[in-house]
Amino acid sequence: MSIDDPAAVSERPASPALTGGCGCGAVRFEIPEPLVGAAYCHCTRCQRRSGTAVQASAKVEPGSLKVTQGEEHLKGWAPGEGFEKIFCIECGSALLGRDPQTGELAIVRMGAIDGDPGIRPQAHQFVAYAGPLGADSRRRPAAL
Ligand SMILES: [Zn+2]
Ligand SMILES: [Zn+2]
Repeated sequence: MSIDDPAAVSERPASPALTGGCGCGAVRFEIPEPLVGAAYCHCTRCQRRSGTAVQASAKVEPGSLKVTQGEEHLKGWAPGEGFEKIFCIECGSALLGRDPQTGELAIVRMGAIDGDPGIRPQAHQFVAYAGPLGADSRRRPAAL
């Protein structure tokens, strides 16, 4: 394909897409657009579903995240309110969040991204629910 071909040029993203996946490799995804925001969440739900004290999640441009491999290995937990929490059923990795209003994949768990996600969490949310480890983590600045 020639670089003189206008169609080929317009299909090329301005910067390389972010990629990521689960721990066992069954699921892979791609995010062509830059992430639009990120936060550390201290809520009890995030502590339980991730097994961590604090969960770093980022918002994606609506409709931009594509599961490129292993969609059949994904399962969601819809707790009744808030986003559906999507994980790999083979390895349990927390991966994505789906907005129940739009049905779109709107959130990515930042630990599932390959390399530098390009942004850093700018806030801590649900700090009133933080356990002792989460409180310790806030003694460091959110953006290093
Ligand atoms: Zn997996
Ligand atoms: Zn949370």
